[in-house]
Amino acid sequence: MYVDSHCHLSFPELHADVARIRAAMRAARVDRALCICTTLEEFETVHALATTYDNFWATVGVHPDNEGVAEPTVDDLVERASRERVVAVGETGLDYYRLGTRSVADMSWQRERFRVHIRAALAASKPLVVHTRSAGEDTLAILREEQGGRVGGVFHCFTETREVAKAALDLGFYISFSGILSFRNAEDLRAVARAVPLERCLIETDSPYLAPVPFRGKVNYPSYVPWVAQALAQAKGVTPEEVARVTSLNFERLFALPAWVPTTEEGRNAR
Ligand SMILES: [Zn+2]
Ligand SMILES: [Zn+2]
Repeated sequence: MYVDSHCHLSFPELHADVARIRAAMRAARVDRALCICTTLEEFETVHALATTYDNFWATVGVHPDNEGVAEPTVDDLVERASRERVVAVGETGLDYYRLGTRSVADMSWQRERFRVHIRAALAASKPLVVHTRSAGEDTLAILREEQGGRVGGVFHCFTETREVAKAALDLGFYISFSGILSFRNAEDLRAVARAVPLERCLIETDSPYLAPVPFRGKVNYPSYVPWVAQALAQAKGVTPEEVARVTSLNFERLFALPAWVPTTEEGRNAR
């Protein structure tokens, strides 16, 4: 009944453990997950998860924090975005959180990479999975300039302000909340969550990072997404079941997926 809209099962610390992770998902009633790509080099591993298991889907993109990796062209992304079970372009966006000795002006390569992803998403008619950290204004400005609203998508692991959330919603994007929503010091983010209509919310783990309370600081898994649902339910004053139901429908709508018919693992293998 729950969907993890953003996880990194291709990362070595999770990939070696997929069978156990899937068993934990079943026990936690986490039906589906979207496996997120962060480099072209890892795409085939991400894609194989989605073609092997009928409740996993994949994206294609190069994360803004990744340097020293293959730089994607529009064609690289469009070709992969058009493969079966690839439902979005990303994760892509801007991250000014770890500038180090650099200035925002030095990050033009990141902005150019983001533009390439938006052009690919438009060419492939697939929504965008947007990562933005300490860069809300530039992220929104580039999305507007490149007409990213024509395909829409999701601002994932949202940690920006209510104003950025409103502007993203106005552009037609969804807002995805992670385990950060359950952290004791995240009252500002809970205020943002209260202001975003549930019909425009997704939930995610961003595993292996950002485990929700009570697992904070440990390795995160898709099976922990009910704890994110609970944090969102508490912030909004609704039941976790309602959060699960509506965010699952939102996931289907955003990524153009058919209504999910749960099957047993035996049935799944037999398909
Ligand atoms: Zn991210
Ligand atoms: Zn991510």
